[in-house]
Amino acid sequence: MSALILIELNGSEVSANSRAAITAATQLSDTIDALVLTNNASNGTSVSALAGINTVKIIVDDSLENANVEVASKLIADAMSGYGYLISGSSTFSKNILPRVGALLDVQPISDVCEIKSNNTFVRPLYAGNVMATVESSDETIVMTVRATAFEHSGDGGSASIETITSSMPESNSEFISLQESESERPELTTAERIVSGGRGLGSKENFTLIEQLADKLDAAIGASRAAVDAGFISNDYQVGQTGKVVAPKLYLAVGISGAIQHLAGMKDSQVIVVINNDPDAPMSRMADLVWQVDLFDALNELNAYQV
Ligand SMILES: Cc1cc2nc3c(=O)[nH]c(=O)nc-3n(C[C@H](O)[C@H](O)[C@H](O)COP(=O)(O)OP(=O)(O)OC[C@H]3O[C@@H](n4cnc5c(N)ncnc54)[C@H](O)[C@@H]3O)c2cc1C
Repeated sequence: MSALILIELNGSEVSANSRAAITAATQLSDTIDALVLTNNASNGTSVSALAGINTVKIIVDDSLENANVEVASKLIADAMSGYGYLISGSSTFSKNILPRVGALLDVQPISDVCEIKSNNTFVRPLYAGNVMATVESSDETIVMTVRATAFEHSGDGGSASIETITSSMPESNSEFISLQESESERPELTTAERIVSGGRGLGSKENFTLIEQLADKLDAAIGASRAAVDAGFISNDYQVGQTGKVVAPKLYLAVGISGAIQHLAGMKDSQVIVVINNDPDAPMSRMADLVWQVDLFDALNELNAYQV
């Protein structure tokens, strides 16, 4: 069965999520195509350079600069003719679209796949990652998202052909009004190699700037616990965990975070976990490679004063 990868673009760049989806697809199919919905035809060229892609199918329309989910899901469902798999990386982009595609195709999407056992059997987390369930699909078309932290990110070096699909834009009951994006020079949270993450222990929004200073020093992304987000220390784009982002950096530095299971669900695959906390019994300390049991303000002031 051939596979279609739904490509997620950041500007003209293919996301790490999409690259992980390609790697996952290589375990399922010999024929892997990519689908791009865009307002810019030249994006087909960057996608055609991805290793492992056979044909890039591109739908170009001005309205696709900010495609609403109703339109996107209908276009994708129509493009699925002849494919056995629709695969995308786990992200807010695909979590928004793929359930609707599943409904249009009358199949049950499988989300957050971490391991592929066979052509219809997959491992995915349940209960905030406390259980890994093996699920078997009996659908003829399998719609799935894969965790970018569980699969290698496919590189470039391909030379896929590009096929333009001419399609009239489906009707929609909703309309795009505006997009508010938080802009940052720092690495993107889900793909960063280093993350400095702050929790309720920081105590205030002003104190949270100590996390930002350290992140800048380490060229790291910023993360946060839900308690820090709920308290208004930082916006919820930075939340790590079950209801936030899932990350697996080389270094996760958790400052003033207790380590509730919902937080651990988002970062427990990090390679090295360093904890700054004055409570030796905090669950976070139990899973850490290194615990600095100290007042976090002393620690952050010392680290921020350190000349690299
Ligand atoms: C359905 C559901 C989904 C959820 N999803 C998420 C999620 O996605 N992500 C998430 O993070 N949480 C999530 N939560 C919330 C989660 O249960 C916890 O409430 C939250 O993670 C706690 O955040 P925290 O560790 O920052 O705060 P706390 O648990 O209050 O921990 C603060 C820590 O700071 C330490 N500390 C305080 N002062 C200092 C100091 N001066 N020096 C050193 N250490 C200090 C304390 O010892 C403590 O360990 C969810 C909850 C539910 C019910």
